[in-house]
Amino acid sequence: MLYLGVKSRYTDLGIATKFSGNVELHEEIEDLQGKNFKKQVEEIKKFVGLGKIKRLSIHMPMKNSNGEYANPALEREAQEYVVKCIELARNFPQFEIPIVIHAAGDKVTDKKEAAIRLGKFIDANFTKNGIIPSVENGTAGKINSNDWFYCREDFEELIKNSKRARITFDICHFFLNELNYTKFEEFIMEFKAKIVNIHVADADPSQRSHGFQIGSGKIDFDRVFQILKDNIEGEVHVIPEVNYEHENNYKEFEIAYSRLKKYI
Ligand SMILES: [Zn+2]
Repeated sequence: MLYLGVKSRYTDLGIATKFSGNVELHEEIEDLQGKNFKKQVEEIKKFVGLGKIKRLSIHMPMKNSNGEYANPALEREAQEYVVKCIELARNFPQFEIPIVIHAAGDKVTDKKEAAIRLGKFIDANFTKNGIIPSVENGTAGKINSNDWFYCREDFEELIKNSKRARITFDICHFFLNELNYTKFEEFIMEFKAKIVNIHVADADPSQRSHGFQIGSGKIDFDRVFQILKDNIEGEVHVIPEVNYEHENNYKEFEIAYSRLKKYI
């Protein structure tokens, strides 16, 4: 079952939850530190109390304080953010909470070794049922020089090295590499039991940019959602991730949301 959701910083929950109660929290480093952490917990609790949050996932900060893409397999700082996200999730035991782990990195030379390290990190730190490590697929060097975890082989390696690892499947990242629906179907068939969360934006493989508005790239969403609906079994969030979606009172998000509604 697919549930259309909304991405939100904790400070935006008022407007975000007007669209959907399926919320993916977008974390910035400062949201997880000092008194902001406590403020965030209280704010989420307020919206849970009002019945405005029905499902919750948490996306780790995307970049380290030095501006590099955060990669928990390689960087202590990024690992600390994931641990902080787990701590945040522990305040909400009433939900099953996927933690979206950004496994993109610029320093990966040996993907196998990185998969082993990420697998070990995940299994050592995700010890509580209900808090789910959910590793997102990247973009095969299209955006950063050495993005990783983007294809079947990468996720096979990770799953082999971690009992607990699950997947956040990013549709835009996947099709940014190539518009190959056979490979897409194969990926979904192979990992459908592991996919707990989906990100969605449009893409055009001829351009080195991502997060296009739904309908302004090249992805055939009729085809994509048919394949997803035929295969996905559990409860899975579908979170729009189009560029500038939070700006101007969620204007771009609203467009994405209305265009995606017909599929879900
Ligand atoms: Zn994503």
